[in-house]
Amino acid sequence: MTQYQRIALASRPKGAPTPENFRYETADLPAPGAGEVLIRTIWMSLDPYMRGRMDDAKSYAEPVPIGGTMEGGGVGEVIASNVDSIAVGDIVVGRTGWASHAVMKGSEVMKVDPTIAPISTALGVLGMPGHTAFVGLNDILQGKAGEVIVVSAATGAVGSLVGQLAKRKGMRVIGVAGGAEKCAYAVDHLGYDICLDHRDPDLADALKAATPDGVDCYYENVGGKTLEAVLTRMNTHGRIAVCGMIAWYSGKGVEDAMRLPAAWRAILTRRLRVQGFIIFDHYDRLPAFLAEVAPLVNAGDIHYRESIAEGLENAPAAFLELLSGGNFGKQLVRVGDDP
Ligand code: NDP
Repeated sequence: MTQYQRIALASRPKGAPTPENFRYETADLPAPGAGEVLIRTIWMSLDPYMRGRMDDAKSYAEPVPIGGTMEGGGVGEVIASNVDSIAVGDIVVGRTGWASHAVMKGSEVMKVDPTIAPISTALGVLGMPGHTAFVGLNDILQGKAGEVIVVSAATGAVGSLVGQLAKRKGMRVIGVAGGAEKCAYAVDHLGYDICLDHRDPDLADALKAATPDGVDCYYENVGGKTLEAVLTRMNTHGRIAVCGMIAWYSGKGVEDAMRLPAAWRAILTRRLRVQGFIIFDHYDRLPAFLAEVAPLVNAGDIHYRESIAEGLENAPAAFLELLSGGNFGKQLVRVGDDP
């Protein structure tokens, strides 16, 4: 038995989550059994989808029960192993949860090669968000050279890779992000042709000016005012990949959102293809994603940025920041020393 620290879901939020919805506590962790490993968490991922897990609502995954450990991905060092193919000292990535340690089956974790890139990237540009960017752009949108793509949450974990991969394909890439600093970074470091601030009350006009030939592909991460503005710019037979809608996750901005008939009409009259996707349906594309993107990251040809919170106990505050755009790049929590 090992004592470990974890963050539990103390109560379900009504609207935007608050620190009181979380509880930091010490608990007992059983020793790993046959076929299991004991992991010391080094990096923990914070992701927008975790907001959905806090609600007791029907979704593509079960909610976290009250008192249960908050769910999430982590990278850690194996400190005990009952799995032949995994040695003590190996670095692995898996769904370790918001916790200092985790006992997991060997089949539930994947080894991380620390010679390719810093191990934290297994949660970001080379992990689930990167994989999502790759699938959304290549398989769902099927973006092509010469087309115009709009990417919302353009500097985030997912959006920053979508923008760079789209540019490498020869697309014209328009980002939408929150604030001048993120927009400047999108253009100067990520290679976006233009980046617009979604807080600008004239976003719709600015997007119209930036897209004289309309929009062929929209990589949708946010919903809200950005979606409304982009819908009016979509070209006939345009495609929308619905990856996320963070602007509405806590129920904010829903009352003044575009009415469904207007959105539905835009889909009909412009003959749009709108496809939602969840990355766990696309694990078959993980090898292709890693084969293409890992060498680019290793060579320094893909930029990525990380926002780091220090200590497991600070995870809830960092998560609340993430939901309101306080992160700048992939949001991580440093839980333990990185060897
Ligand atoms: P990010 O790193 O992009 O962080 C979230 C960002 O969302 C914030 O930094 C903020 O950026 C933006 N944001 C927050 N509130 C609003 C708002 N009201 N209007 C506009 N933008 C807002 O997160 P990820 O890259 O990890 O995730 C991006 C999206 O992709 C999310 O919606 C997420 O749920 C989704 N996703 C979906 C997956 C799937 O399988 N379908 C898998 C992974 C992610 P800014 O400051 O620029 O506004």
